[in-house]
Amino acid sequence: MNIGLYLQRIAQVHGDRPALFSGREAVADYAGFYARAMQLAGWLTARGIGPGDRVAIFMKNVPDYLIVQYGIWLAGAVAVPINAKLHGREAAWIIENAEAGVSFASPGLSAALVEAGAGSEIVCLSSEPFAEIAAAVPLAAPVSRGADDLAWLFYTSGTTGRPKGVMITHRMLTNMALSYFVDVDQVHPEDTALYAAPLSHGAGIYNIMHVMVGAKHACPASGGFDEAEIFDLAAHHDRVHMFAAPTMVKRMTDAAKRVGARGEGLRTIVYGGGPMYLADIVEAVDWFGEVFVQIYGQGECPMAISALSRGDVSDRAHPRWRERLGSVGRAQSVVEVRIGDADGNPVAPDAPGEIMVRGDVVMPGYWQNPEATAKTLVNGWLRTGDVGSMDADGYVTMRDRSKDMIISGGTNIYPREVEEVLLEMPELSEVSVVGRPHPEWGEDVVAFVVMEPGHALDEAALDAHCLANIARFKRPKAYFVLGELPKNNYGKVLKTKLREMLEDVAND
Ligand code: ATP
Repeated sequence: MNIGLYLQRIAQVHGDRPALFSGREAVADYAGFYARAMQLAGWLTARGIGPGDRVAIFMKNVPDYLIVQYGIWLAGAVAVPINAKLHGREAAWIIENAEAGVSFASPGLSAALVEAGAGSEIVCLSSEPFAEIAAAVPLAAPVSRGADDLAWLFYTSGTTGRPKGVMITHRMLTNMALSYFVDVDQVHPEDTALYAAPLSHGAGIYNIMHVMVGAKHACPASGGFDEAEIFDLAAHHDRVHMFAAPTMVKRMTDAAKRVGARGEGLRTIVYGGGPMYLADIVEAVDWFGEVFVQIYGQGECPMAISALSRGDVSDRAHPRWRERLGSVGRAQSVVEVRIGDADGNPVAPDAPGEIMVRGDVVMPGYWQNPEATAKTLVNGWLRTGDVGSMDADGYVTMRDRSKDMIISGGTNIYPREVEEVLLEMPELSEVSVVGRPHPEWGEDVVAFVVMEPGHALDEAALDAHCLANIARFKRPKAYFVLGELPKNNYGKVLKTKLREMLEDVAND
């Protein structure tokens, strides 16, 4: 079971189907895609890279990314994707931790790796060695791999500490793809996967489903996320499927409204990877229509914990539509989801507890980190560190990450609930709520807010809105107005940074 075999099969059966695009421009059909991946595999093999060896990918979203990724798999090696927005030093740390022998890097990024002293051979895409690969002797046949052999070593984004390498096997990727077809979207050969989010992210593995059915893959020519380009490519390619983090969905809605575009050509937008505020998704559904599906996952169980179906997201007539839209949907078919107490025992329906998962898409452990593994995999269950509840119909509502939960006077306060209420105010564009140490209550609630351009609100107005909408003890006791919220490279708010800001204020 080598995930690369899906590429071999589709190239044999449908070699003339268009496969890779840079923007609108066709770069390779499936026969060409496979041939180049096998050359890269041959080159790696000749360099002594074999089964189980790690190879890093520090690249922007370009068609070569997929050639490199499949080449690594066909050689039996393990791909280590690194977010192209990371600093050279951060990327070098991952390369060292993974003990990657070779790293493929985009022009510009390779220099950052060299400067950071990354301890691996670095192959820049625009370099001569990379050009040589196109002339390398292809591998005679894909290297066979066991289902439980490593395919991907995926580093968590590090919002709660140093990134950890999540071990992802060929079996997990196959099951994730199966679950995707059943629970998220039925990918069709006429579809185009548009890679607007980094391919290094968990959602990057969505290319597997598109390879399985022989669909098209398009990387924005700009290499990044640009709303106007997304709309242009969606209209051009048609039947476009994309993953978008919540911040991207919001940006797309704002941009589409500005120019009066309705996202023509967009067939599916899968959103998730972080909390999507109700006001934002309602606005997006109003504008773009029935294109959204939500997924909830984490590096330790990539994209495969739960899903909120297209019907659930769009069915306004359903009496529980809003409530369900605020949930992360139901367990995907390949996992069991449980809400557990501190000992991991199931709690009653609707009661809060830790979201736990088990199944064939859950990681076997963290790379060379048995302590972290033992804390996270307990009695066969993955402890997600997320707090949530499940209703009698199986819909899971995520309250917050347990590390972000505020305990004030012995009562749990979920920041997300307070953020949702504040975001109802049209003057606010972003909000993040955290706990601040308090001598009497343990913690009290503090909000960081970003105003919409040209708007201003004073504390009294913010407080009045909270008083009118949530319990008194949940309302923020202090507000800080920022120009923008600190975010990591995946666009997630770094609450650790906000808490540090509070410490600095307290120490001043
Ligand atoms: P680290 O583990 O290093 O701190 P991270 O947790 O940000 O990094 P990811 O695996 O990228 O790493 O993020 C997973 C987390 O994102 C989940 O545990 C959950 O808290 C949040 N998340 C993912 N999908 C959703 C969703 N649909 N709704 C709300 N939150 C989500």
